[in-house]
Amino acid sequence: MGISMKLKLIKIKAKKSFTPTKIPGADYVINQYVGCQYSCMYCYAKFMCRWYKYGKWGEWIVVKENLPELVKKENVKGKVYMSSVSDPYQPIEKKLELTRDILKSMNKNIKLGILTKSDLVLRDIDVFKEFKDIEVGLTINGFNKYIKKKIEPFYPTTEKRMDALKILHENGIKNYAFISPIIPNLVDVGELIKETKNFTDFYWFEFLNLRASGKEFRKWLKQNYPESYEVLSDKVKAEKYIKDVIEIIKSNNIKVRGVCINHPKK
Ligand code: SF4
Repeated sequence: MGISMKLKLIKIKAKKSFTPTKIPGADYVINQYVGCQYSCMYCYAKFMCRWYKYGKWGEWIVVKENLPELVKKENVKGKVYMSSVSDPYQPIEKKLELTRDILKSMNKNIKLGILTKSDLVLRDIDVFKEFKDIEVGLTINGFNKYIKKKIEPFYPTTEKRMDALKILHENGIKNYAFISPIIPNLVDVGELIKETKNFTDFYWFEFLNLRASGKEFRKWLKQNYPESYEVLSDKVKAEKYIKDVIEIIKSNNIKVRGVCINHPKK
C-alpha cells in the first residue's frame, strides 16, 4: 500500500492568505493546501470533503498557487498557525515547494507557528532562521508499527520525527512536540516526554476527539482496542484517564503550552 496513486491536484487562486481562527494558541491560520496525502484514519480535517467534492480524503489536494504572491502584500498582528486542514510538508511539497515559497515571501515579523508530521520540514531551516518569532512543531504519538500501518501508514516514523525535533533544536529554532492523538493503552505520554525533553522547548498535548475522528476510526478502535474505546466514550472513565495523564505531565519538568481535552458528552 502506498500514498494514493490517484492524487488529484486542483490548482486555484485564493483571495487572501490569512483567515481568523479559534484554534487554541492562534489568531489566524494559513492553509496553502486543502487536503492531505497522509490521509490518517482519525484525521479531524476529513470534514472538508463535504465542501470539496473531489473524492476520498487523501486522494485530492487543492493547491492555492498564488499564496506566495498574496502573502507579500498581507500582514497580520497576532499569531499565525500553519496549517489546519493539511500538512504543510506532505509529500507533494517536496516537488511544489509552495510552503517554502510562502515562507520566503512572508513578512518575517509575523509570529508563526508551524505544525507537521514530516521531517521534510528540515529543508526550510534556512528560511526559519530569518523569522523573528517562529515555532516549529512535530506531531509525535509513538504508535507501534502495527497501529501506525493501519491508521497513519504514510508519514515518517516516530524516530524520524524525534530526530527532526532534535535537528531543529540544534539549529536554534524554537521547537515543540505536539503529543497527539492521546489514546489509552496506545500512547505512552510519559515515555514520549522522556525521549524528547532534552531537545524540546515546549509541549502541546491533545487527547483524541472521538467524535471528530470519524465513523471509520471509531469502528476500528472499537473492534481492535475495545478497552481504549470504552475509556474514551465514557465520561467518568475518560475524566479519570485524562486526570491520570495530566498527573504524568505535571510530574515532568517540562514547559506545557496547552492541553486539548475533548470530554465525551455522555
Ligand atoms: S497529517 Fe494531519 S492533516 Fe494530514 S491526514 Fe494526518 S491528521 Fe490529517
